[in-house]
Amino acid sequence: CKSPGMSKEQMMEIRKQNCMTMKITYYKKPVFIHQGYMQWLWDVDGKRYLDLFAGVATVSVGHCHPKVTAATQRQLKKLWHTTNIYIHPELHEYCDKLASYLPDPLKVIYLTNSGSEANELAMLMARLHTGNFDIITFRGSYHGGSQQTMGLTAKSSCKFPIATSSGCIHTMCPDVFRGPWGGSYCRDSPVQTIRECSCAQANKHYIEQLEETFATSAPSQIAAFFGEPIQGMGGAVQYPKNYLKEAYKLVRQTGGICIADEVQTGFGRTGSHFWGFQGHDVIPDMVTMAKGIGNGFPVGAVVTTPEIAVSFVKASHFNTFGGNPLACAVASSVLDTIREDSTQQNSLHVGTYLMTQMAKLRDKYEVIGDVRGKGLQIGMEMVKDKGSREPLPPEAMSEILEDVKDTGVLIGKGGVHGQTFRIQPPMCITREDVDFFLAVFNKAISGYTDRK
Ligand code: PMP
Repeated sequence: CKSPGMSKEQMMEIRKQNCMTMKITYYKKPVFIHQGYMQWLWDVDGKRYLDLFAGVATVSVGHCHPKVTAATQRQLKKLWHTTNIYIHPELHEYCDKLASYLPDPLKVIYLTNSGSEANELAMLMARLHTGNFDIITFRGSYHGGSQQTMGLTAKSSCKFPIATSSGCIHTMCPDVFRGPWGGSYCRDSPVQTIRECSCAQANKHYIEQLEETFATSAPSQIAAFFGEPIQGMGGAVQYPKNYLKEAYKLVRQTGGICIADEVQTGFGRTGSHFWGFQGHDVIPDMVTMAKGIGNGFPVGAVVTTPEIAVSFVKASHFNTFGGNPLACAVASSVLDTIREDSTQQNSLHVGTYLMTQMAKLRDKYEVIGDVRGKGLQIGMEMVKDKGSREPLPPEAMSEILEDVKDTGVLIGKGGVHGQTFRIQPPMCITREDVDFFLAVFNKAISGYTDRK
């Protein structure tokens, strides 16, 4: 379906002059998106794309999913907005429903409008509850773009030269592919395709790094440890087995609390579990979420324990839009849809199939260094060659990305050096979609290899 709207030239001009100064797009020839349905997007010329990036892991059940659209339309006719000084059923029904998806004692919910807002609130709560100030995150992580959360974020391309939140300390990311430990040990792991590094030696070294990080803070001053169960923007980085379990134990011993940023990994994306932290066999003290919670509608949340929540009532916390009826109706219908459409199970099956097939391409091409992830949170780390593991340069990454896009598939990019392709699609994709992507990716890589 063709767009009757503005010309591409007009849009590009407005983008330069008036539109959030967003000059950057992923592509040399930008994509002008006009319409979406489930795993598909159409541009203004009517060209169809298989969307394997879902607006950065945001569209969870599918673009314009009919059930979510219907629920939104019902609520639009009833009540758009009222603040939470009044009691409205949508908020309470939703909190009750969301709480049922979380293990005890994670039962107290605060709704926000974005992931940055959720993480900023979590920082505040952790500091108030513990009376401590320092917060530890991983190098390479992204936790938001507000001034406070920019302090948590440890990715130079997302930071500005200003004073962000002080007291944010960045520990070494336990990255078994690019980090100093893991690597070839982990290649010997019996699990080759969906590789969860079980190398105890590598884990020990990374845990020692965390302990050294504690020593950079004043004694017992740790308020929180923030970590994504699988890094998103960092490039689908997975930690060695037991890392989070041991890290949580150590953080708690110092008096800090543990926070799982589930903005990308939550709502069934990792397939085996509803929440990414469940794959690490830990229960955080606080969970932050956004993106998939609203299938593209701006919603975020912090979930914590009653004990921590008590520390937060010293002053009044107010959020005009957080938990408004429309957002709650959308988010509630997303939860129902995940269950009714078995999207978590689909993530597991289709994601496992994709990774297994991708591992064959990894073995075929020198430039695919690593394939990793869980469910539909997948990364392919690109290298100059497997021996050096030097990151594939940005121009080469762009060339491949452009080719994949021109053949009709949208994928993402991430990693400290921008060296990892990311696949985080709407969770409704099928095996046929995967086969199509594999053919497209194979052609793009073989084309690049031939031209080199
Ligand atoms: N945490 C993670 C893990 C994210 O990936 C993001 C967004 N990319 C955020 C937090 C911030 O979310 P938002 O853009 O909704 O503020």
